[in-house]
Parts: sequence; C-alpha cells; structure tokens
Amino acid sequence: MKIGVLALQGDFAEHITMLKRIGAETAEVRLPKHLEGLDGLIIPGGESTTIGKLAVAYGLIEPLREFGRSHAIWGTCAGAIFLSNDIGRDQPLLGLMSIKVKRNAFGRQVDSFETDLEIDELFKATGTEHPYHAVFIRGPIIESVSGEAKVLCALEDGRIVAAQQGRLLATSFHPELTDDTRFHEYFISLAS
Ligand code: GLN
Repeated sequence: MKIGVLALQGDFAEHITMLKRIGAETAEVRLPKHLEGLDGLIIPGGESTTIGKLAVAYGLIEPLREFGRSHAIWGTCAGAIFLSNDIGRDQPLLGLMSIKVKRNAFGRQVDSFETDLEIDELFKATGTEHPYHAVFIRGPIIESVSGEAKVLCALEDGRIVAAQQGRLLATSFHPELTDDTRFHEYFISLAS
C-alpha cells in the first residue's frame, strides 16, 4: 500500500509520520509524475488558497482530478476545502466532492478547539468504540452534501465535520495531529 501526501504547503510531514506508523509506504507529491504508482493521496491542512494556487502553478489540477476519479483521496481541513465543489467564493478547487464548504466557519474566538466525536463508520471499520478525539484549527464546516456524498460525522448541533463520497473523504479536523491512527487506517481501507 503506497499513499502519497500532497506536499505543496501545510502539515504534510505529520500525515507521513502517521502513515509510517501504520506501516504504509509513503511519497511526497509535488508534481504530476509523483502520482504514478500510488494507491491513494492525502491532501493536508494548511491554507487552501495557497495549496490551490501552487497546484495550478505546478500543473496538478487536472492530474489530481483524474487521479481522484479512480483512487482514494482524503482532504483534511484545507484539503477538504480543496476537494469540494462549492465554497461560495473564487479560488482553485478540485471540485471532486459534492459538498458545500464554508471556510473558517467556527469564527475567530473559537476557531481552534478539540472535541470527542462518535463516528460509527470509523468504529465499525476499526473494531473499536471509544470516541475519536478531533482537533479543529480554523477549520471549515461542511454546510451540505449532495449527489453521492454522505455525512460521515456531525457535531451534536448538527454541523457536518466529515463526509465521504465513495473513496473520497473530507474532514474538517486534523487526525494527523493526534496519536489516534484510526482515521488513517480507515483511509487505507478505502484505498485498498
Ligand atoms: N483556514 C484554512 C483555510 O481556509 C484551513 C485551516 C487548516 O487547514 N487548518 O484554508
């Protein structure tokens, strides 16, 4: 199992560390040719505008869309924004997932927080039942899902923070910044 991490900007190194911990082979992706031979790709958190602009500059937009039509891709935070098809403003997006996303949606005062989540699919896939501790850093909210996309997890007040569309995964939070490898394991199960 070889998983690439888009390494244009953001916390790609933390994802690579998590993937290695669960025994996956990894690769940093900066150019279209780096997608060859990968089973899946993670797009990390960071600044979605910067990631988008660099992806345009390196000729990655179409190759990433092509890759996502037949492979697993998981976007965390800025990566989730980049995967979406509607953010209500103009910036480069892959548009692979039918999700409407609002950037920086948790507001300034509470723009970073941690909370425990119940994620049934994740618990089923990993044979566990203890809550998933999620870290949010100026994260987006998934305002709605449509088409093939479905809600994977919502906060108690109903705000959606994780969605899945086939092998495509979007999370508002940062599983690479915790010690819990379950989300990375779940992603590998989608990639295989
Ligand atoms: N606020 C960033 C954005 O809108 C995302 C933050 C993150 O990835 N931690 O792109």
